[in-house]
Amino acid sequence: MAEINAVVTGAGGFIGGHLTRALLAEGCGVRAIDRKPLDEWYQVHEDAVNVVGDVSLRETCTEILDGGADEVYHLAADMGGMGFIENNKAACMLSVLSSTHMLLAAKEAGVGRYFYSSSACVYAAHKQVDADVLPLREEDAYPAMPEDGYGWEKLFSERMARHFREDYGLATRAARYHNIYGPYGTWAGGREKAPAAACRKVALAVLTGTGEVEVWGDGEQTRSFTYIDDCVEGTLRLTRSEYTDPLNIGSDRLVSVNQLYAIVERIAGVQLRHRHVPGPLGVRGRNSDNTLIRKELGWAPETSLVQGLEVTYRWVYDQVKAQLDGRPVTC
Ligand code: NAD
Repeated sequence: MAEINAVVTGAGGFIGGHLTRALLAEGCGVRAIDRKPLDEWYQVHEDAVNVVGDVSLRETCTEILDGGADEVYHLAADMGGMGFIENNKAACMLSVLSSTHMLLAAKEAGVGRYFYSSSACVYAAHKQVDADVLPLREEDAYPAMPEDGYGWEKLFSERMARHFREDYGLATRAARYHNIYGPYGTWAGGREKAPAAACRKVALAVLTGTGEVEVWGDGEQTRSFTYIDDCVEGTLRLTRSEYTDPLNIGSDRLVSVNQLYAIVERIAGVQLRHRHVPGPLGVRGRNSDNTLIRKELGWAPETSLVQGLEVTYRWVYDQVKAQLDGRPVTC
């Protein structure tokens, strides 16, 4: 079989770094691009062609797709956890520039498959007002009332990808990721998501002996959390499938934030006091309905939260310890 030639945008970020590694392991040729300086990429894979560039610029998109590509994975976006997206709506919406320019360049270059990373934040907020929420089906995105800022950009961009397919024949695919977590991701600085934040706070409490952690809100808000290996596998399966509408890629095991902390504490072998403080909370509950992905791909995320958090906690613990010791950290 001829080697697959792939392009990954946002490759210096969390999911992009893992996806690049998986593509290289399959024997694909990978051009990896991110606007961050190379020494800030979470993973740098020597076997890829690593490019520092800004894909919000049309000319960068044309250059990175020069010579075409069998598969394009467009992951670059300004994003973070609730603390970031609630306070940076304009920055999140500006990702529409990269979404647009990558689609235009992909159409011009005649790429084989084009994957877009959308989000569970496209779902209507009024369907997520209870902690004991009904899992979200793909059709629940309409009538549209997504997360302000970030969610609107995601919904618009996945819809634009659909119309590029319908009008121009570009073979687009879109996944709605649900809270992806794992090692080599953002764990501090304000853009981290709940699992990484929980691992960091618990590790810090263990290493400094404070005996307590801060939890935003009452901790009864619920989410499902998806391990990175499942995210990568789902992304590859969807991109190479014949299914063309947006598809959830998310775990369907609903847990509260308090339960998330309890699992991390069990892994760390401690029991901490929870100090509940005001903070950005997002919707009250969110879960993924996996009926469609099972039907269309014959597969769904399967890594248990305990398994995934064990790996993540160990990695975050090492970062926190390195930081306390004054050693360099991965991100
Ligand atoms: P991340 O922040 O770790 O990675 C995104 C990367 O994109 C960053 O390294 C950033 O520097 C880069 N980037 C941003 N704008 C760019 C530009 N104009 N040009 C080049 N690079 C640019 O985020 P992630 O968690 O890896 O998320 C990847 C994608 O998946 C994003 O589109 C995100 O919205 C989507 N997503 C992620 C989650 C999640 O839980 N992590 C959930 C839903 C959707």
